[in-house]
Amino acid sequence: MPTHDRYPTLFSPLDLGFVTIKNRALMGSMHTGLEEDENGFEKQAAFFAERAKNGVGMIITGGIPPNFEASGRGTKLSTPEEAAQHRIVTDAVHAADPDVKICMQILHTGPLARTPECVAPSAVKSRIGSYMPNALDEDGVEKQISDFANCAALAKSAGYDGVEIIGSAGYLISTFLVEKTNRRTDRWGGSFENRMRFPVEVIKRVRAAVGPNFILIFRISAMDMLEGGLAWEEVVALGKAVVAAGVNIVSTHFCWHEAFVPTIATMVPRAAFTQVTGRLRRELGVPMITSNRINMPQVAEDVLVRGDGDIVSMARPMLADPELVRKAAEGREDEINTCIACNQACLDHTFTGRTVSCLVNPRACHETELKYEPAMQVKRIAVVGAGPAGLAFATTAAERGHKVTLFEAGPEIGGQFNLARKIPGKEEFNETLRYFRRMIAVRGVDLRLNTRVDAASLKAQGFDEVIVATGIEPRTPQIEGIDHPKVVGYIDAILGRKPIGRKVAIMGAGGIGFDVAELITHSGPSAALDIDVFAREWGIDFKNHPRGGVTGVKPQVARADREVTLMQRKTDAVGKYLGRTTGWTHRLTLQRRGVHMVGGVDYLRIDDSGLHTLVNGQPKLFDVDTIIVCAGQTSLRKLYDDLQGQGVKATLVGGAFEASELDAKRAIDQASRVAAAV
Ligand code: FAD
Ligand code: NAP
Ligand code: SF4
Repeated sequence: MPTHDRYPTLFSPLDLGFVTIKNRALMGSMHTGLEEDENGFEKQAAFFAERAKNGVGMIITGGIPPNFEASGRGTKLSTPEEAAQHRIVTDAVHAADPDVKICMQILHTGPLARTPECVAPSAVKSRIGSYMPNALDEDGVEKQISDFANCAALAKSAGYDGVEIIGSAGYLISTFLVEKTNRRTDRWGGSFENRMRFPVEVIKRVRAAVGPNFILIFRISAMDMLEGGLAWEEVVALGKAVVAAGVNIVSTHFCWHEAFVPTIATMVPRAAFTQVTGRLRRELGVPMITSNRINMPQVAEDVLVRGDGDIVSMARPMLADPELVRKAAEGREDEINTCIACNQACLDHTFTGRTVSCLVNPRACHETELKYEPAMQVKRIAVVGAGPAGLAFATTAAERGHKVTLFEAGPEIGGQFNLARKIPGKEEFNETLRYFRRMIAVRGVDLRLNTRVDAASLKAQGFDEVIVATGIEPRTPQIEGIDHPKVVGYIDAILGRKPIGRKVAIMGAGGIGFDVAELITHSGPSAALDIDVFAREWGIDFKNHPRGGVTGVKPQVARADREVTLMQRKTDAVGKYLGRTTGWTHRLTLQRRGVHMVGGVDYLRIDDSGLHTLVNGQPKLFDVDTIIVCAGQTSLRKLYDDLQGQGVKATLVGGAFEASELDAKRAIDQASRVAAAV
């Protein structure tokens, strides 16, 4: 594979002495749920092999527990029989490209394991754990260490090139390190030297079990985001100690699952945390992996050139596009399907027990069942609507060889993504539109912008198939006074087509209500585009690195100069149904800006004095200048009904198919599946 000269550092090999990693692009570890799937080894083999044959230098698998109590999920690697199954994965990767290295992550979740048998240094329950952990006694500590070593040896026997041991995020090893979770007074607790004894012993015993010529990576909590978390000197001391104990590569992690600081969501600037890796790298003098929001090759190259790491970990970006590295190498970066850091199909799935996929690439982790194969019979297909659903269908069907004409009423592709991308923190949505624009050209889709089609013209053109992806229209609630000049629809509000007053009520607190609140309370540069602003808003001190990176630093969010109330009819907590792993960031940001959130609202009428309601049965007037309606949507199906009326067979996709609980994940997934079968 030729390597493009724009990324000389990314495509340079890394020599570890006993082994060479062919480039600096790492597919980082992600728990995909395939680890627990009935046919999980075959599915993981297909998933990883697709990335291996497309240029990635090294892969780290999802976390594999060394024993039952390490996860409580049932899967583990503690016997030779279990190791034999992993051969399916390692053989597939090495067959795809013998030069690609694959390491297995050993994950002991400690107090986060889903079993009452879960263990920890002390009986301290995690805020997000299910059970009070059992405090390990001396024999218990020894058992866990030897289970790590046994697991690593088995991984080696299964054909892995190395193992990664995760020592961060609130999992077992990190709970030994931090006083908050380690209350012991024996040789495993107290001083930092004692608290780091456990990871150091694990590394020593793993190294002894696997011998010298086996990659051993330690994932260190470089900034754990915990009040009272690890001090910088402790991070450095731990890094030096694990290197002395036998680690070849140190990988930085910026996470403790309980912490209230976003580290990978869309509002986190690209490569925001790599400066911390750079600082640690200068202390440790061993190859280091850096990560978090590195989603394009130029970002990776810049990080490496700055000296912020030796290897760049891209985990979610490899879900979004298995060919990311190949496209970079071939100078086709404009064809990369970029990870937009939404977490909707990856982390949100992990934390709700569903198999991971990707919003922009529904094939991720579904490679064995969702295949885009050449069409048996080439058809002429009309697609109406170039929102996410129409785009996904059109580009996938064209990839399969169909002749596709894509009609869009508007002047540009994207549908509602053209609204989403205007929200501060959602700038990455532009990348999805850039990707689709390029795919339309590469795959020869005949795009007709500014073309609103009707049933008669479609019938006259005699297409073999018609796909209706006309999307949705905003719902207008039937409330007295809804046509009052104070009332503004969310589309007009986002596009700035109508003035918004100082006192605002937002009717409807779903994803769009929250986004509108974000937009109209925002001032200054988007935190997603400015690391200093991001750090200030979330109380991170990159410069002085206090304990956890956050101890004693107050988040500084400018209060909005508007008085905004976000309301809903439901009596549940406002924002309860936002994304599992990102909803809290939106709630917290708006609360810090002073946005009021009110549930249990009955809308009575709108007049010159404002919005008249009952709140939990009590009359309340919201004396506002503007009422922005974000009350959900209904499917736009007129074209479909007209086609039916004219006897033209048509298929609905995306919001036109079903508006309720619609999001781009479902729109793209459904449209891609229809395109795979057409
Ligand atoms: P649409 O995006 O509505 O596209 C339909 C297209 O059809 C439009 O371009 C329209 O012009 C065209 N059209 C209609 N009739 C005709 C016709 N007769 N002829 C030609 N063209 C026609 N989803 C997420 O998953 N995550 C998010 O973070 C997210 N954020 C959002 C933020 C905002 C502010 C908004 C408004 C939406 C957001 N969404 C998000 C929702 C997401 O954008 C929608 O679920 C998605 O766009 C639906 O895709 P679609 O293709 O079905 O419909
Ligand atoms: P939504 O999430 O379904 O929210 C609609 C809101 O309108 C709810 O608050 C609902 O709450 C209210 N509502 C419904 N019917 C109403 C009526 N007749 N009168 C008054 N209020 C009514 O839909 P959305 O906010 O329009 O978003 C559309 C889709 O885009 C969503 O499914 C969402 O997943 C997706 N999206 C996602 C994100 C993201 O960050 N992941 C961001 C934006 C949008 P009550 O019924 O309780 O009043
Ligand atoms: Fe990235 Fe979103 Fe896909 Fe996850 S679902 S890999 S965050 S684009």
